[in-house]
Amino acid sequence: KKKPKDPASMRVLFVTPECYPLVKTGGLADVSAALPPALNRAGAEVRLLLPGYPAVLNGLSDLQPVGKPLTDLPGTDLPGGAPATLRIGRMPDGVLAYVLDAPALYDRPGNPYLGPDGKDWPDNAERFAALSWCAAGFAAEDGLDPWWRPDVLHGHDWQTGLIPAYLELRPDRFAGPFRPGTVTTIHNIAYQGLFGAWMMSDLGLPSAAFRIDGVEYYGGVGFLKAGCFYSDRLTTVSPTYAHEIQTAEHGSGLEGLLATRAEALTGILNGVDYDIWDPATDPHIAARYGAADLGGKDLCKADLQATFGLDRRADAPLAAVVSRLTGHKGLDLVLETASQWIAWGGQLAVLGSGEPALEAGFRHLATWYPKSVGVRIGYDEALSHRIQAGADLFLVPSRSEPCGLTQMYALKYGTLPLVRRTGGLADTIVDANPAAVNDASATGFQFVNANVQELTWALRRAAALYRKPERWHAMQQHAMTRDFGWHGPAEEYMELYRAVAPVLVA
Ligand code: ADP
Repeated sequence: KKKPKDPASMRVLFVTPECYPLVKTGGLADVSAALPPALNRAGAEVRLLLPGYPAVLNGLSDLQPVGKPLTDLPGTDLPGGAPATLRIGRMPDGVLAYVLDAPALYDRPGNPYLGPDGKDWPDNAERFAALSWCAAGFAAEDGLDPWWRPDVLHGHDWQTGLIPAYLELRPDRFAGPFRPGTVTTIHNIAYQGLFGAWMMSDLGLPSAAFRIDGVEYYGGVGFLKAGCFYSDRLTTVSPTYAHEIQTAEHGSGLEGLLATRAEALTGILNGVDYDIWDPATDPHIAARYGAADLGGKDLCKADLQATFGLDRRADAPLAAVVSRLTGHKGLDLVLETASQWIAWGGQLAVLGSGEPALEAGFRHLATWYPKSVGVRIGYDEALSHRIQAGADLFLVPSRSEPCGLTQMYALKYGTLPLVRRTGGLADTIVDANPAAVNDASATGFQFVNANVQELTWALRRAAALYRKPERWHAMQQHAMTRDFGWHGPAEEYMELYRAVAPVLVA
């Protein structure tokens, strides 16, 4: 049965600084690639707006100019600033994407935020103010694309924080036939876009807005702060993180403002792309398998043990890590407890790169316990699939984790996640406490406080359960049938869009 289509279509301008496969530095790129098609399937009409990096201009097909050249963008009046043009093209998957083609701002090689010296580009404020200015321009009387007026402007992270500020503070420039709803999504609150107060006029912001009830943030102009203050609605990437960022421990300074906006703030989990992450179809793994028949997983484990030079013991619980090696991922705790895990007969496979001290720590562990610990320093997409398939237990002991994806992949591969109870990890994994084991709802293991005692205790519980193959097997099957696809999250975003979109009255 088909549901009747909404009478008015929901037009969403999805403004993002990154989108896989054209430009990616983190999870935001994956969300920007997967969520818009899911929203389109849910009945929306989503178009992207991206900065005109070389990789974006080269990666879009059928690129054509839209409207007149843009003359008043922040930053394009600099010496050498060629006029900017809005263009539209298609992403490799067919989604329509506007691109702000402003060579003075974006025609630079390499990382989107960092220059060749590894430091932030000195004009990052103007570069992303221009993107936000362009987005706001879709709402103006002389709308940037006269044939397509969005109902909702949906921005992501600090780079788009000024969109709702421009709509609110510059009605002279951006008031139009109707005001689109505004949504800002926080993917990681630690990145805030804080710039000098002297930039106010360069950014096209009225000086009167430099106050606590405005864009001021710790003495400067705060882009994410502006987004949190002026957006109609705020979202972040898991319900638990939505609560956590209202506290001093996780709020990075924005907790006070977010607490006052609690009514406007929702946590919506990220989804998994099961076309890529499914052991029944995964081309990278040694044998394919599913919840009904886990036989192939034994072959994947043997393959992984061989790859890492570990003892070929089917009965040794094999724990795995695939992660950036940074402090907030909590992997120092794994280093501290590893010898205990090995003493219990466990094995460990690690793939990651990042902080030199953590890289060295894992390398040393592998030299001390060559038959029990295998370590690969680097980034290897194919190997990450083989680890998901071959391991028994997947470790994510993060100190903070807005959503986290690897624990959701692990569920699908029947690799039971052992996680710290924070952010999206708390929302996606059901701890194997006695009640949850008995009623068969458990999908993994949680510990609460980020210390080595609690992690070790959780590993001990996992090792004990692993020795009861029937129970372990039942838990694997339950884990593998959990659905964390994009369909559910897309419906939640649709509901939010309906709440903020302007209502047309006859
Ligand atoms: P974060 O965005 O904080 O890094 P997530 O769990 O949300 O954490 O996403 C991490 C993504 O990067 C996952 O897809 C994971 O498989 C991948 N990944 C991380 N490190 C590596 C690595 N060394 N090799 C391959 N993939 C990796």
